[in-house]
Amino acid sequence: MPGAGTDKTKAWIATPAPVVILVEPQLGENIGAAARVMANFGLSRLRLVKPKPAWPSPKARMMAAGADRVLEAAELFDSLTDAIADCSFVAATTARAHGQAKPVLSPEESIRRIAPRISAGETVAIVFGRERNGLENDEVGLADCIVTFPVNPAFASLNLAQAVALVSYEWFKRAAAGALPFAMPEKSQAAPKEQLLAFFANLERELERVEFFRPAEKRETMVINLRNIFTRMQLTQQDIQTLHGVVMAIAEGRKGPARGGVLDSDEALRLRELIADHAAGRVPSERGPVRGLSRLLRRNPTDAERLLWEALVADRRFAGLGFKRQVPVGPHIVDFVSFSLRTVIEIAPADESVEGKTVRAERHAWLAARDYRVIDVAAAGIEADVAGVVARLAAELDENASNKQ
Ligand code: SAH
Repeated sequence: MPGAGTDKTKAWIATPAPVVILVEPQLGENIGAAARVMANFGLSRLRLVKPKPAWPSPKARMMAAGADRVLEAAELFDSLTDAIADCSFVAATTARAHGQAKPVLSPEESIRRIAPRISAGETVAIVFGRERNGLENDEVGLADCIVTFPVNPAFASLNLAQAVALVSYEWFKRAAAGALPFAMPEKSQAAPKEQLLAFFANLERELERVEFFRPAEKRETMVINLRNIFTRMQLTQQDIQTLHGVVMAIAEGRKGPARGGVLDSDEALRLRELIADHAAGRVPSERGPVRGLSRLLRRNPTDAERLLWEALVADRRFAGLGFKRQVPVGPHIVDFVSFSLRTVIEIAPADESVEGKTVRAERHAWLAARDYRVIDVAAAGIEADVAGVVARLAAELDENASNKQ
């Protein structure tokens, strides 16, 4: 696809550049390919000395793949001397030593010497020879320097158009000061250390829960090694959010076909309704069933709950506040609680049943009587704008904290 990566809205580069001279090129295909690569690297002035194919050449046009304007502007000459008549400096490219007392330069070095002349308004030519036998000695004799490529000496001769490519590339690299046409898109800003540390705290807490850090005397080294792995990655804010989500998904389980017994969001909603309707929101007082039920709820978050939890965990304003999800507070299981802040965050489902509402009101009264602050958020609000909800919660908690001071 010749047009791939080509931006037709961009103007062609028309800054002064060296002239490319092909001496008696034999194949139209090579002339076309040379024109194409010249256009790729900002060169436009092509001169042909007695080309073999009848001119214009359909094969050249085919291989030029859109660089027609270089072909159309190509000038034809009967001899190399005519072609270089207006040039103040000429470089002859060749794979062979011609035994002539002339500087022999790499493509890069030749461009270094040519560039200031072009800037000064001079006409400079780079000459290429025939496919079969390159440039004659007398043709090389007309040049100011020889350009030869660092190549495998046992197989030194490049295809004509590829030779043009190497020199043209060196030209453009220098002319554009090595600037690339595009860069990796910056999707998200680099994460501040605070956010990284909140992620470490989350990761390490979950690993602690599964007794990953064993034996105890290796704990410190293990933590440092683990942190270094993530530090080396130069994570963005988005990366950290994703990693938080990954850790929580592994730690708490997620809905999905692969996990037996895990409910989808609708089913999770109905499970909550069932608990609200039948148990009057209370959980049995024995330790075992309460823990079982709260684990069941944790494993089966509703969409709103999962969204909010992931956002809270990834947000540095909530780091260290000690929020937990679906844990028993007395006889109730609340959505999120921070025991240290004595604050409960509850998600109000969109279409709550009458029983559900009553149970929630009772639970709130129970919590309020025990000096818990309860913040209600609407499930629909979370699904519409989780960042907004998180910001509001952060502000409320902040206000709460400053009121206490
Ligand atoms: N068989 C010929 C090479 C022809 S290649 C010979 O022995 O000279 C066509 C042209 O590509 C050459 O005339 C030269 O201008 C360029 N070229 C090919 N290989 C090159 C190399 N290693 N160094 C410099 N120019 C080269």
